[in-house]
Amino acid sequence: MAAIDDLPPLRDVIQRHGLTARKSLGQNFLLDLNLTAKIARAAGDLTGADVLEVGPGPGGLTRGLLAEGARKVLAIEKDPRCLPALQEIAEAFPGRLEILEGDALEGDSLAHLNSPIRIVANLPYNVGTELLVRWLTPDAWPPRWASLTLMFQREVAERIVAAPGSKAYGRLAVLAGWRCEARIVMDLPPEAFTPPPKVRSAVVHLTALPEPRFEADAEVLQGVVARAFNQRRKMLRASLKGLRPDIEDVLRGIGIDPTRRAETVSIEEFAALARAVAAD
Ligand code: SAM
Repeated sequence: MAAIDDLPPLRDVIQRHGLTARKSLGQNFLLDLNLTAKIARAAGDLTGADVLEVGPGPGGLTRGLLAEGARKVLAIEKDPRCLPALQEIAEAFPGRLEILEGDALEGDSLAHLNSPIRIVANLPYNVGTELLVRWLTPDAWPPRWASLTLMFQREVAERIVAAPGSKAYGRLAVLAGWRCEARIVMDLPPEAFTPPPKVRSAVVHLTALPEPRFEADAEVLQGVVARAFNQRRKMLRASLKGLRPDIEDVLRGIGIDPTRRAETVSIEEFAALARAVAAD
């Protein structure tokens, strides 16, 4: 297949810069540039968009994003060893790649970018989930980003797109489904990565809806859902007891049987519950 750019193959880059993967940083690199270009295409039309890439590592996905025409990429990487390799990419795509050394969990990186903003990342699982929840729960909606294209363990991806009543349905599905259209767009076997992780991975693409499907305060909804699914086998009257002393009455008042379990509660019902809990 044709090369996506004039830069050297990633194996050479990794060897030249001594980028042996570190487990502590969740480093499983994608070295196939045709694959990273495919992930970049899954993010939608990048021409005319600014992209926030979290965890670029040696820059395989970064190169895919630039080759697919992103107006600008802001790449935030925690591992300083990767910066010289990323700098070489910045020089090959003048004025289009900005590199920030740091922890994506700190600071407001979206403030550096102009709309429309697409967020793309292949991150360690725990960081990815934490960031996803933050991106889904700003006070105001629509958010500053237009879409999220994120790599997860397949099992986590299934939790994000799960329907009510299913085993995978939980906090992530409610928060994602409330304000976004979410779907799995790619499946990747362990061998796609170097070193290969133990489990399969999947790319989830989320598009921000112009407004949430149902009215609710993001913080209250998040609190209700977290409690409900923290003890998912318990009845709602038990798992939500700490929220309000009159929780059984609140549930009955909006037509939810207090003996139901969280996994049977639809997003619409959770939103109604968040409104009722917030009301005096
Ligand atoms: N995007 C590259 C790829 O696809 O080959 C690297 C993926 S690797 C799974 C995850 C990357 O995220 C690593 O480069 C790691 O150093 C970086 N990383 C881990 N935690 C981070 C954090 N909190 N903030 C920014 N980058 C982080």
